[in-house]
Amino acid sequence: MKTYSHWIAGQFQEPASGEWLDTVDPYQGEPWAKIPKGNAIDASAAVSAAKTAMTNGPWATMSATARGKILRRIGDITLGNIDQLAQMEVRDNGKLLAEMSGAIKNVAEIWYYYAGLADKIEGSVMPMEKAGIVGLTSREPIGVVLALTAWNAPLNFLALKCAPALAAGCSVVIKPSEFSSVSSLEFAALTKMAGLPDGVLNVVTGLGQDIGAPLVEHPDVSMVTFTGSDATGAKVYEAAARHMKRVTMELGGKSPNIIFEDADLELAVAGAISGIFGGGGQMCTAGSRLLVQNSIKDEFTDLLLTAARSVKVGNPMDASTQMGPMSTAPQYQKVINYIDIARAEGAKCLLGGKPATGPGIKGGQFIEPTIFTNVSNSMRIAQEEVFGPVLSVIGFEDEAEAIEIANNTLYGLAAGVWTGNIGRLFRVSKALEVGTVWGNTYRTYSYMMPFGGMKQSGIGRESGIEAVNEYLETKSLMISIAETRPENNFVPR
Ligand code: NAD
Repeated sequence: MKTYSHWIAGQFQEPASGEWLDTVDPYQGEPWAKIPKGNAIDASAAVSAAKTAMTNGPWATMSATARGKILRRIGDITLGNIDQLAQMEVRDNGKLLAEMSGAIKNVAEIWYYYAGLADKIEGSVMPMEKAGIVGLTSREPIGVVLALTAWNAPLNFLALKCAPALAAGCSVVIKPSEFSSVSSLEFAALTKMAGLPDGVLNVVTGLGQDIGAPLVEHPDVSMVTFTGSDATGAKVYEAAARHMKRVTMELGGKSPNIIFEDADLELAVAGAISGIFGGGGQMCTAGSRLLVQNSIKDEFTDLLLTAARSVKVGNPMDASTQMGPMSTAPQYQKVINYIDIARAEGAKCLLGGKPATGPGIKGGQFIEPTIFTNVSNSMRIAQEEVFGPVLSVIGFEDEAEAIEIANNTLYGLAAGVWTGNIGRLFRVSKALEVGTVWGNTYRTYSYMMPFGGMKQSGIGRESGIEAVNEYLETKSLMISIAETRPENNFVPR
């Protein structure tokens, strides 16, 4: 069993506590590696390394073009290590090997995209109402960024946060989830080979309260970028607010996938299945509320059941597997509890609803693809994030009712709209209170498209050019070029 250390200032450092946590292979159901059980001392060491890199190291004075070149090399090294990184995500996180090669290629693309943006961050020469004054703005790195991430896609989250932050010229301390930290530690060591100066990217591991909380409180952290649950997000937001730190929050969802009677039903079924059973439903964007127009509800439900019955559950290393295990034991128990809650609320289980068994299934963390009908939107199963392969089918009469049900949740992350009517697609998409709408598709992600939530699903945007802006501060510089003293300014401020 391999024992890992924190990655601080360009080298592995053992935890100050001298303690480690087991990390479990969700398929085997057994520990396979040990990660440091970090604490406030490790938090300080990592932030200090990041601060030094921002102020004294080569990073501080490097040209934006040189920064971009290093980010590009990180992309190259990612591509050169696809197999190793993919296997690690399967082992640590129960991800499907069949999906991981593509996912790691996408990680490399994220690094390339932000590599290209690094030297396109421009300031402005401003028009001025005052004679003899030149006004300039520059966009400057905000400082040391703390990234806290969820367990379900570690390298993707690392890239989505660190690549734009480094493109902006910041340094980063990242604390991945205690359930899936190994790939981030290994990845950080690879960045050294790309020429990333020591201390620019630091990875520390451990429990949220032990090391996450002291990191958030650390005075030298200027910004916190968080991906995780809304409950933890609220705590982190509160702590960050006490120190006026900027935050971005990528939180949970209860996304509606809306099927109108004029949709291509075959495509819509495929979208509904991948929307909830992809990743075993362990996705913030899981299309967990399937809103189906009443006129086609019976027909669509039959098609859905046929497709869902063919979802192959099993060993994530097997190329034909379509749904692997729940990634963590607590998550498995949470999903089982929600299935019980749904039954107790009066929802009718049409498919699944229990632990999965059968060939290739091990470790006790598998759940059958599960579909409930007779669900009303006020039930807990329709309002609370399950984060598992559990779909609620809810009927609606017309466009207005679909929008009303879709928006009737605390969340606002994403939605799918399936219709052959382009006018309806635009109308509904405009009315939906979500950050992302997918029209006649679902789970289509692009690192070029801003992504984030409305309402309780979050604050700020990742991906696209907008993500870089989150890591920048605008500085104003006003210079007198007059030969005489400029006129007094009596505007109070
Ligand atoms: P979580 O909130 O339990 O943990 C997220 C991170 O916060 C972990 O690294 C954890 O150790 C850390 N943490 C916990 N307590 C902390 C504290 N007091 N201070 C600082 N850090 C602390 O989330 P999770 O269970 O790992 O992930 C699942 C959740 O993430 C789901 O709600 C899912 O919807 C959400 N998610 C959102 C997105 C998105 O982009 N919107 C993407 C993936 C997952």
